[in-house]
Amino acid sequence: MLERLAAVVSRNGVIADLADMVAYVKEPRDAYHGRALCVVRPRSAEEVAAVLALCHDAAVGVVPQGGNTGLVGGQTPDESGAQIILSLQRLDRIREVDPASDTMTVEAGVVLARAQEAAEQAGRYFPLSLAAEGSCTIGGNLATNAGGVHVIAYGTARDLALGVEVALADGRLLSNLSKLRKDNTGYDLTHLFIGSEGTLGIITAATLKLFPLPRSRATSLVGLADPRAALALLSLAKARAGSALVAFEIIPRIGVEFVLRHQPGARDPLAGAHRWYALIELASPAESGTEELLTELLGEALERGVAEDAALAATLEQRAGLWRLRETLPEAQKPEGGSIKHDVSVPIESIPAFLAEAEALVLRQAPGARPVPFGHMGDGNIHYNISQPEGADRAAFLARRDEMNELVHGLVRKYSGSISAEHGVGRLKRELLQKVKDPVALDLMRAIKQALDPKGVLNPGKLL
Ligand SMILES: Cc1cc2nc3c(=O)[nH]c(=O)nc-3n(C[C@H](O)[C@H](O)[C@H](O)COP(=O)(O)OP(=O)(O)OC[C@H]3O[C@@H](n4cnc5c(N)ncnc54)[C@H](O)[C@@H]3O)c2cc1C
Repeated sequence: MLERLAAVVSRNGVIADLADMVAYVKEPRDAYHGRALCVVRPRSAEEVAAVLALCHDAAVGVVPQGGNTGLVGGQTPDESGAQIILSLQRLDRIREVDPASDTMTVEAGVVLARAQEAAEQAGRYFPLSLAAEGSCTIGGNLATNAGGVHVIAYGTARDLALGVEVALADGRLLSNLSKLRKDNTGYDLTHLFIGSEGTLGIITAATLKLFPLPRSRATSLVGLADPRAALALLSLAKARAGSALVAFEIIPRIGVEFVLRHQPGARDPLAGAHRWYALIELASPAESGTEELLTELLGEALERGVAEDAALAATLEQRAGLWRLRETLPEAQKPEGGSIKHDVSVPIESIPAFLAEAEALVLRQAPGARPVPFGHMGDGNIHYNISQPEGADRAAFLARRDEMNELVHGLVRKYSGSISAEHGVGRLKRELLQKVKDPVALDLMRAIKQALDPKGVLNPGKLL
């Protein structure tokens, strides 16, 4: 098998040495690790397709991998040592930026931050933005339908793709790199592959939507009494700022305290403490106006008693400081001990009730546990993280993971929410999906999988 793979991608495109494979067989948090026959690193879509044809013939499982930043174990092989990891990192060409069509065609291994830069160099904007953008790839973003902080204004990765090129399990290459905004010629195959986590095909390139480059931005941290006030502020911000509202994140006081305690240089821009905070950002292609709009909006929120206090960033450094409070929160949770995490969504109007009920249930079940729910309130996605009680035994708390999951996910179902808002299913939520997804939807998903990958070689053991 190694010889045949080397014939396709050349010798230096195959890594079979155990020490050299270490970085690929586990993910950075070390939550998942496996073993692999080898890592294959093709340089073109044709090579990816040829590798798949070989693996299909030999019935060898293929685990696609981009930046290896996924949080649900989707990019990690199993323990058998029989699967190959197909790394897309060398497919890293920006094939075209077309400002007139507002599109960009890039290969799957292009790192998200590089795609953003390429758009900016052409005077355009690619709005997908997440904390892992320095290492995650466009292929991984589309395979997981990544969300991030701008979904409220621009949608998820799915909404940002016009077309994809995909290597199929049997080695054929589907070329669907359309720049068209209107094309009603049957089933939407592009969207079938987006969010499929490498189980239906391997994305080798994509045509993405571009937007006008924002030339003015205004960012604020707002102190709030509770999530109900956050909901009122969100409604007000949407009504006053419309499409200029590009981010609306919430953080509880305990989250701000963790960041202040553990992130050097972090500071609280508000004089007093507040139980909750919203991080709001407005952006516009106009050269000015966002700061005035945000100032007016905050004035109204303060006057109406929706907000308790607010700090507006006056410099780029201050803006970065406000974002640091939000982006470094997961890192700042680590020194506080074990943490049980959930990536869930509920309808936006239900967020205050969901948060109140979840906290009561968690504290009743695990007195002293410290809920730290934060995230993308603007699109209904809450990262419901629970830190262990202060001074408690880490392992004993983490052993209660299933119990906490049951509780949070049960509540998510009560509010007609989703057990995976943006991170996907992978290995982490595969069994849970079987319990919560509509059985007819699961039947259809299995039928699609069977049609596209009858031998089950694509990312075996993930999602379904
Ligand atoms: C610090 C941090 C912050 C994060 N923040 C967010 C966030 O705000 N929003 C969010 O949605 N996610 C977030 N994530 C999760 C992660 O960054 C995203 O899921 C990202 O889209 C994964 O991209 P990747 O290139 O690293 O993919 P990988 O981790 O390599 O793979 C992810 C999945 O996609 C499959 N895959 C990868 N490339 C391809 C391809 N070309 N074709 C087919 N399948 C493929 C893999 O098999 C795997 O199932 C965060 C992760 C970290 C570490």
